[in-house]
Amino acid sequence: MSHLGNATIKAELGRSTWKLLHTMVARFPESPTSDERAALKQFILLLSRLYPCGECAEHFQKLLAKYPPQTSSRVAASQWACAIHNHVNQRLGKEIFNCADIEAKYQCGCDAENTETTL
Ligand code: FAD
Repeated sequence: MSHLGNATIKAELGRSTWKLLHTMVARFPESPTSDERAALKQFILLLSRLYPCGECAEHFQKLLAKYPPQTSSRVAASQWACAIHNHVNQRLGKEIFNCADIEAKYQCGCDAENTETTL
C-alpha cells in the first residue's frame, strides 16, 4: 500500500472512514444471523488490509489482532468500534471519546421502517 504523505488527505480519509464504520455498526442488527456476523467481521478485516494509508493499515491490523471485531449484537459492535477508535485516538494524542454517548452520536439516519442493515 502506498504512503499517503498528505496529512490533510489522511485526516479526511480517517474522518470519513470512522463515520462510515460507526454509522454502519449503529445500523447493524440487534440480533444478527451468523451470516451477518461473518459479513461484518470480513468487512472490517478487509478494510484493515485495503485501507489506503500504509501506516494506518499496519497499526489497525495490529489492533484487530489484539481486539478482534465484536459482532454478537449492535451494541457489542458499536462499543467495539468506539473502543478501537479510542485506541487510535490515544496513539495520536487525541481526546478519548465517551463510549456511553455512542448511540446518541451515530443515529442511523435512515427511515423508521428500515433501521437495520440488510445484508
Ligand atoms: P477523528 O478521529 O477522525 O474522529 C472523527 C469524529 O469522530 C470526531 O470529531 C468525534 O466527533 C468522533 N469520535 C472521536 N472518537 C470517537 C470514538 N472513539 N468513537 C466514536 N466517535 C468518535 N491517522 C494517523 O495519522 N495515523 C494512523 O496510524 C491512523 N490510523 C487510522 C486507522 C484507521 C482505521 C482510521 C479509520 C483512521 C486512522 N487515522 C490515522 C486517521 C485518524 O484516526 C483521524 O481520522 C484523523 O487524524 C482526523 O482526526 P479528527 O481529529 O478529525 O477526528
